[in-house]
Amino acid sequence: MIIYLNGEFVPETQARVSVFDRGFLFGDGVYEVIPVFGGRPLRLAEHLERLTRSLAEVRIDNPHDRSGWESLFTTLLEKNPGGDRSLYVQVTRGVARRDHAFPTGVRPTVFAMVNPIVPQNPAVLEQGVAAVVVDDHRWSRCDIKAITLLPNVLARQEALDAGATEAILIRQGLATEGAASNLFVVGDGVIVTPPKDRSLLPGITRDLVVELAQEAGLPLMESTIPEQSLRVAEEIWLTSSTREILPVTRLDGRPVGAGVPGPVWRRVHGLYQDYKARLRET
Ligand code: PLP
Repeated sequence: MIIYLNGEFVPETQARVSVFDRGFLFGDGVYEVIPVFGGRPLRLAEHLERLTRSLAEVRIDNPHDRSGWESLFTTLLEKNPGGDRSLYVQVTRGVARRDHAFPTGVRPTVFAMVNPIVPQNPAVLEQGVAAVVVDDHRWSRCDIKAITLLPNVLARQEALDAGATEAILIRQGLATEGAASNLFVVGDGVIVTPPKDRSLLPGITRDLVVELAQEAGLPLMESTIPEQSLRVAEEIWLTSSTREILPVTRLDGRPVGAGVPGPVWRRVHGLYQDYKARLRET
């Protein structure tokens, strides 16, 4: 694989980052993941806007303007041909002697790579996945896409250890999102997703799903989701750039609704697939 590191495109085996990089020492950095279908990045402008915002919130200078990022991604995709892929980009504050205070005069470390998107196993779309409910141990700025992901890692592993695919996080009695995904619930035929605030990442897939559902005239509300609502939901879905819209059919070992992917998921999943098909044709 050819990766991008600090201005150069190099084989991954030749890429080197200092042990003094603040990403390594402090988790002092942010990242972005952009899905690419048929060579076309999905919602690139929105992903770059979120990256710009994450950088501004942690006070790291944005190393590129929009066209700089775009040409970097174009070259990286050309150097790593393939089918559906995702771009991963990470910016850390840079390399400096270990001290919590911001260093002066350092340049951010910029790293980007391309990973294949593994097509969803058809069984997952037929049967859905299992999820478990887990306490949210993250910080109070979950709206920033920071590389500091230890609580997310622990939550995901807790889910896997319980034989599930994803953890749904609970903060002060409310279900906010998954360990690496946004949350949707269907109750009384209405699609509900939590409003965007500091307790969750403003997912690009989330926003697209909201848009597609509203365009199709499906009832949708942005509203908090008490943990108890999960237990009586007709449908639960989790969304992310690489896993699209996952139907959750078991929660903490009990069936969600009828225990199979529901009709509203089927409709919205179809709308999302159509959107991707149109993107490929552009
Ligand atoms: N929430 C968290 C905590 C995430 O890590 C992710 C993506 O990895 C998402 C939500 C979904 O965001 P997106 O749809 O932009 O991939």
